[in-house]
Amino acid sequence: MQPPDNLTQFQANVRAFVEKTLLPEVNKIDEAEQIDRSLIQAMANQGFLGASIKKKNGGQALPSDHLMVLHKEVARAHGSLENLVTVTGMVAAAVERFAKSDLIRDYVKALAKGELIGGFAMTEPNIGSNLSHVETTITRDGDDYVINGVKTWITLAQIADFFVVLGRTRDNHTQVILVDRSTPGLSVEPIRGMIGLRANMLGTVTFDQCRVPAHYLLGSETQGLALSATFGLHEGRFTTACGCLGLADAALEVMTERCISRQQAGKPLYRHQLVQKMLSETLVAVMSAQELVNRAAEARDMASPDMVQAIMIAKYAASQAARLASNNAVQLLGASGCHAVNHAERYFRDAKAMEIIEGTTQIHEIQIALAYIATNVERAAA
Ligand SMILES: Cc1cc2nc3c(=O)[nH]c(=O)nc-3n(C[C@H](O)[C@H](O)[C@H](O)COP(=O)(O)OP(=O)(O)OC[C@H]3O[C@@H](n4cnc5c(N)ncnc54)[C@H](O)[C@@H]3O)c2cc1C
Repeated sequence: MQPPDNLTQFQANVRAFVEKTLLPEVNKIDEAEQIDRSLIQAMANQGFLGASIKKKNGGQALPSDHLMVLHKEVARAHGSLENLVTVTGMVAAAVERFAKSDLIRDYVKALAKGELIGGFAMTEPNIGSNLSHVETTITRDGDDYVINGVKTWITLAQIADFFVVLGRTRDNHTQVILVDRSTPGLSVEPIRGMIGLRANMLGTVTFDQCRVPAHYLLGSETQGLALSATFGLHEGRFTTACGCLGLADAALEVMTERCISRQQAGKPLYRHQLVQKMLSETLVAVMSAQELVNRAAEARDMASPDMVQAIMIAKYAASQAARLASNNAVQLLGASGCHAVNHAERYFRDAKAMEIIEGTTQIHEIQIALAYIATNVERAAA
């Protein structure tokens, strides 16, 4: 799909595809806990998987407002479909910016076409929120690196053709390296039965003496900081914020329809004051989150100094809005809200998982406060 400059037209095009091709599949996706490869290919053909990838690498390089609309619309169908686009964007961001050779950039071109699937492998059994203590080792040996360790809860691990992997070098620097799935010593154990984002096709990935050419390192060994991981995470937080907004919007829509159509005690639900409170708090949370995501989108386009903080605030606010909106939607739908016949219960489950991925709510609370204080300390010292 060639993106029109007009955002409204772009949104209409994406929504038409979502309604025709994705929505009819969502119950099947959720029950089977997987996304068919044909559906992934259909999304790639629309340009969704190359949405944030540079044009020279076969992507669309969408501006942030278009990216926001895309993630919102796809999340309305299914959170895992949105996560597929998010993780692809994270992997691509790390590889296309930090790869040292064209050979590696070819992986990105294949991502955009849907020919290859990538996984972003940071979390480990002992290391979740505190990635700086990562235990996986990336050890130089002649012209290669040897990778040993275990990554878990990795989205798309079941089908990924390659992984970008966070580890620690001999000098105790954190680094990221690309590892092809075909590398001897790499094995994947599927994880099923998640509360939400059930079709993320998660897995635990074990690296046992995996030998990879040295130029697969995404960054420089002396850098001392895994910039490619940080860069990928910022991208992921931005698009996850947009996905959360899509869930929140969809939940608000469902509860609004219910408040108008459902009569109790001789009047529509919206005439009851406690329901009005639920509607107001949801509407305000969704609208506030939208403003904060818009602000993050602007900061991202301008690569402004407050971009990282703006993105963290947006992800924090949008995931909270999604949780509140989906919770209230289920509540106002009553018993039917607890049944799969309604999308509300899935929004509720997906929103819970969104509060954990790309940095938990608590980690955002810590980092937002610290960044805010740091700015004020700098100002006071100036
Ligand atoms: C659906 C899904 C998809 C995922 N996909 C990926 C993926 O593709 N790649 C990947 O690498 N990982 C992935 N993850 C893992 C995810 O990134 C981690 O679950 C997340 O970072 C939290 O780590 P943890 O689960 O180990 O929790 P922990 O870090 O052990 O945290 C447990 C709880 O303690 C809180 N906590 C931790 N530290 C602090 C602190 N300093 N102060 C206050 N509270 C704290 C946390 O907020 C949380 O509530 C996925 C997870 C899910 C659920």
